[in-house]
This record gives sequence, structure tokens and C-alpha cells, in this order.
Amino acid sequence: MKLKNYLTLGITLLMGASLASCGSTMNTLNDIKSKKQLVLATNATFQPFEYVDNGNFKGIDIDFAKAYATSIGCELSVSDIDFDAIIPSIQTYKADIGIAGMTVTEARSKVVDFTESYYSASQVVIVKADSELAWLDYDELLKALEGKTIGCQIGTTGEAYITGSEDMGFAGIKNATSKGYKDGVLATKDLAAGNIDAVIIDSAPASLYVKEYPTCVVVEDVVLTEEEYAIAVAKGNDTLLSSLNTFIKESKENGVLDSIISANYAE
Ligand code: GLN
Repeated sequence: MKLKNYLTLGITLLMGASLASCGSTMNTLNDIKSKKQLVLATNATFQPFEYVDNGNFKGIDIDFAKAYATSIGCELSVSDIDFDAIIPSIQTYKADIGIAGMTVTEARSKVVDFTESYYSASQVVIVKADSELAWLDYDELLKALEGKTIGCQIGTTGEAYITGSEDMGFAGIKNATSKGYKDGVLATKDLAAGNIDAVIIDSAPASLYVKEYPTCVVVEDVVLTEEEYAIAVAKGNDTLLSSLNTFIKESKENGVLDSIISANYAE
């Protein structure tokens, strides 16, 4: 064999090995059922949707994913990774589903498929309770945030709101510096420490983060966006997508979704 062919063979083997190690093929609904295991990718720092409590995964998304897994005769296996690693993990078939309080966006819909929505959410602003920002209305607050340093979770719609995003129709906050954190708790902690001016993050987690950091508050009556959370699956995994959509529809109709939400989050 010529050197070039050896090289090609070597590269092919290497590619095969790396693909095999990250799950090279898509798991259809039948594959998942026969493995009896559904792999969920999430970022468990987003209470009340997913978080770790005494070493256990808890939250609305976890309970909902468990209920779905049970309904198809599977165990749920949770892969807890960075938020911005969830979509790549679905694309490379390492995980079957992504549930992480994840908002449906145009850009994400180009690379993964989303189910119907299971929760409506919005972005809100957290500031120091003793800051004058805490008492502003929507227009005043957006003006006051210009040029400020605003924290967010990396790769989220909160970050897109600060920096601006064409596909989401966000103009961005003028001259603001976006400071990205691995999770919203760290962003709120840095706000409490006085290192940044505000945090932009989803409303339900925000209301719980400020309980952990009582020197911070969510600015009242200021709702920045309207978003829908849905479950992500690999592009083209139609059997899994339609089974999830049926489950979401039934769970809305029979009250299972509402009871999972109220068991995890008292608004
Ligand atoms: N809903 C936001 C998004 O999808 C944040 C999600 C999260 O931080 N888990 O970008």
C-alpha cells in the first residue's frame, strides 16, 4: 500500500474511533426503547427547572423527562453539562434529548428540532436592592442600563438580549458590556459582590436566585421578552419528536404538566 493510502486508512480509523466514542448514530424512538435508556443533556444550575439537591437531579424538566422516560419504558440518564454544550451534544447524538429551560430560537431551530412548547417564559433584570435601578420602569431601566456591565449565562437568550440578536429581533443594549458566566447563580453572586450592574436572566430562576442573594431584587413589572421553552432533539429524529409532542399534548390535557410545575415552583 502506498504511503498516501496508509495515511487515508489511519485517518479513517481515527475518525471512526472518535465518532464511536461520541455515539455516531442517531437513536430513533425504537432504538431508545430497546436500550431502555433515554439520555438527557441539561445544565443543572437552573432552579426550578433543573438543579442538584443533595446529589440528586431535581426540577420541572427533570420530572417531566422522567415521566416521559417512564411512559416509553426507559430509565432516564442525566448528562449535566454547560448550557452551550447541550445543542452540540444533541447534534453528535451523545444525548437523545435536551431539556434545559431552553428557548426556541430561529438560530437553534436550524441545528436541532424542537417539540411544541411546554412553558412560557421571559427575561427579567436583577439589580442590587439598594440601587436606584430597582425602582425604574421599563423605558427608564433600558435607558439606565446603557453603557453598564450586565451579567448573563453564556450562550443564552439573556446574553443575546444584551448584545443584540437579529434572529430574535433584539436591538441590544447600547454600549453595554455583556459579562458571561457559566450559570446564573455565579452571575447573581457577582452582582451581590458589586462587580457588575445587573443580570439579565429567565424569570423563574431569577426569582429563586434573589432568595439566595437577598441584597439583590428582580426589577418589578419589567418583562423584556416573550419566550417558549421546548425540548430539543437531533434534526430528523421524527419518531422521537412526534412521541415527545404526543406526550406534551397529553400532559397538558391531563394536568400532569401543571402538577409537575406546581410541585417544583410556587410563583
Ligand atoms: N431560556 C434561556 C435560553 O434558552 C436560558 C436557559 C438556561 O440558562 N438554562 O437561552
